[in-house]
Amino acid sequence: MKRVTIFGATGSIGQNTIDLIRRDRDAYQVQALTGGRNIERLAADAVDLKAKVAVTAYDAHYQELSEALAGTGVKAAAGEAALIDAAEMPADWIMSAIVGAAGLPPGLAALRKGTTLALANKESLVTAGPLLLQTARDHGGTVLPVDSEHSAVFQALNGEDMDTVERVIITASGGAFRDWPIEKLKDATVDQASSHPNWAMGQRITIDSASMFNKALELIETKEFFGVRPDQIEAVIHPESLIHALVGFNDGALMAHVGPHDMRHAIGYALNHPKRTKLPVERLDLAQIGQLTFRPPDLVRYPALGLARDIMDIGGLAGAAFNGAKEMALDAFIAGQIRFTEMTPVVAEVIEKMTAERLGNAAVTLDSVRESDQMARKAAQSAIEQQR
Ligand code: NDP
Repeated sequence: MKRVTIFGATGSIGQNTIDLIRRDRDAYQVQALTGGRNIERLAADAVDLKAKVAVTAYDAHYQELSEALAGTGVKAAAGEAALIDAAEMPADWIMSAIVGAAGLPPGLAALRKGTTLALANKESLVTAGPLLLQTARDHGGTVLPVDSEHSAVFQALNGEDMDTVERVIITASGGAFRDWPIEKLKDATVDQASSHPNWAMGQRITIDSASMFNKALELIETKEFFGVRPDQIEAVIHPESLIHALVGFNDGALMAHVGPHDMRHAIGYALNHPKRTKLPVERLDLAQIGQLTFRPPDLVRYPALGLARDIMDIGGLAGAAFNGAKEMALDAFIAGQIRFTEMTPVVAEVIEKMTAERLGNAAVTLDSVRESDQMARKAAQSAIEQQR
């Protein structure tokens, strides 16, 4: 039996992971499930999957979780230390699907135990890519990409020599406002930004898709995970979202990964790696689809993409600062404090201020990442207050 743990089990990726596990439940021993505020879902899944422990990230929800699990044989736990304890339980495969920078410490703890970490939490690579991958190397751990674009690149690279790779192209749907007049974007509401044309995902990543902060994170993630230079990485708008990524080789070949809009493919690939196993996803009918279209991303509509280029060039702790500022700007937009179009200026202002702190030359450790994240959040808070 494969021992598995799921961080962010109550979220969109977590629930898709649970769906796959449930379909073949005798093959898995669930060690721990973790969540945040959705205690009902967490407790129900933990009992159904006979998890050893269920953890809420928040101490304030411990009582509720503990009551929901009373008499079920599943242990209840809460807080940051309990998340680390869950990461250190013996496991063959751990899903990292907490949203945001909070996903980093449990991921590092899991890798220090030499496990396989299926990484949906792109923020871990953006904020601390070198640290995460070095931790895996030092302890015999493995990181497998779960972001659909990065899983696609990973699959296209299977058996290939990295020296023959000329470029990596990741696709973007263009998000909710792809076809809106640019002058209307300043009036975009949270509800409008929370609806994705192709994928069903958590609210934060959906809004990040509309602003393309998500694609910005993914460009940085590509650089960190595959070790390619920034000038080898491209993004292209592909409204159908069926090609997830392409790898260009030195003989002119472009290897494209084509698949349905269903995260269970990338999750299942990581769950069964290095084997492929039958998955319950739609089989595409290309004749019915008819055509696949592409267009270049417009940097006026999506200024976050330009910022991502700066962050890749600066390197070091710039990713941590970028992500921290982005999370604050996103919170402020969701709370109605700033407009949709004010998110990128807030982040740009933080990066400009913090570049003086020599972000690029600093060593990437858990402490320095936390420090940059905190500084960026503070700087973002004052930038947000100026916008209001
Ligand atoms: P969701 O918002 O749907 O779920 C997030 C999960 O993290 C929930 O279990 C939530 O708990 C938990 N959580 C939230 N805040 C914290 C915290 N501070 N500490 C610990 N746990 C917390 O997100 P998604 O599933 O959409 O995304 C998860 C990650 O995967 C993100 O990094 C995202 O970028 C990435 N990703 C997602 C894709 C998708 O299709 N959804 C595609 C590719 C990557 P609760 O809900 O109980 O409060």
